[in-house]
Amino acid sequence: MSIKDVNTMKIAPKVWRNGEFIEWKDARVHVMTHAIHYGSSVFEGVRAYNTERGTAIFRLTEHIQRLMNSAKVYRMDIKFSREEICQAAVELVRGSEMDECYLRPIVFRGLNEDKPAFGVNPFPNPIDCYIAAWDWGKYLGEEALESGVDVCISSWTRTPANSLPAVAKAGANYMNSQLIKMEAILGGFSEGIALDDRGYVSEGSGENIFLVNNGRLLTPPLGASILPGITRDSVIAIAGELGIKVEETNIQRAALYLTDELFFTGTAAEITPIRSVDHITVGAGKRGEITKQIQDVFFDVIHGKRPAPENAPWLTYVNEKGEKKMASAI
Ligand code: PMP
Repeated sequence: MSIKDVNTMKIAPKVWRNGEFIEWKDARVHVMTHAIHYGSSVFEGVRAYNTERGTAIFRLTEHIQRLMNSAKVYRMDIKFSREEICQAAVELVRGSEMDECYLRPIVFRGLNEDKPAFGVNPFPNPIDCYIAAWDWGKYLGEEALESGVDVCISSWTRTPANSLPAVAKAGANYMNSQLIKMEAILGGFSEGIALDDRGYVSEGSGENIFLVNNGRLLTPPLGASILPGITRDSVIAIAGELGIKVEETNIQRAALYLTDELFFTGTAAEITPIRSVDHITVGAGKRGEITKQIQDVFFDVIHGKRPAPENAPWLTYVNEKGEKKMASAI
C-alpha cells in the first residue's frame, strides 16, 4: 500500500466509511445518490500538523461537534458518536503515511439500492459517513501567508440564515461559495467576500474575516450569516491571551477599505492577510504587525511549540509516543 499520488497530490490510501476502512478506489457512490441531486451533505475540513511529538490533529473534537450540529440541523441521524468519529479520524491519519494532512469528514444522504428513493424527501435515504485525507498545501498559496491576497466584494449575497443556515456546514451552502469564488477568480482576484442580506460584511467563500482597527480586532457576529469558524474562535482566544480586544460587530463594506489590517481565517486558508479589496490598498498593502503577531502564535500552537490559550486541549496526537506507525495499522 502506498500513498496515492494524483497530479503530485498525496492522498491517504484508505477512506473510512461507515465504521470501516476501505481502499481509496472503492470509496464511490451511485449517480442516483440523493446528495448529488439535492445537495444533502454536511461536512468538515480539519488539518493535522507535524509537531515534535508526531502528527497532531487541530481541534478535532470541535470540528466533529460542528459536524454533528450540522447533521442535527438537517435531521440526519449519524449512527456514530462524536468520539467514534474522532477515533476514526485519528486512525486514518495514523495510517496515512503523511506527517501533515487535511481531513474531510462528510455525512450525506445516500442511496439504498434495494429500496431506491429519488424524490426531494430525504427521509427514505440512508445516512453515509466517510472520512478521506490528503496533503493540502497552502490554500491561497504559500506566498499569500506573508504578502497577502487581493480580494473583491462579491456581487452575490451570502445566503440568509432562514434559507440555508450558515451555522451548518452543508454542501449546498457551497453553491453560493462557488458563485463567489468563480466571480473573484474571473475578475483576477484570489477570493471574494460576500455581504449578508442586510448589506453587512459576512465572510469569504471559505474563510471568516477580521479587521485590525486602532489596535483592536473587529469581526462580523454569527448573525451575519457566517460559519462559526474554528480558526475564528482560535484567533479570538489568541487575541485574548495577547491582550488584544475583539469586537464582534456589524461591518460596512467601506470599512474594509479603511481598516489598518485585514485577514482571513479558516482551516484551509489558516491566517491569510488581505492586501487589497476591490483594488483599494488596505493599510500598508502587506501583512500588518498585529496580523503577524497573531499568525506567529497560531503557527506555534498548531505545531505544538507553545500551549493553546488557557492550555486548552487543541491538539490530538495521533501517536502519543511520536513514533510513526505503519499504514498496516489500519
Ligand atoms: N466560512 C466558510 C464559508 C468556510 O467554508 C470556512 C472553512 N471551513 C470558514 C468560514 C472557516 O471555518 P474554519 O475556521 O472552522 O475552517
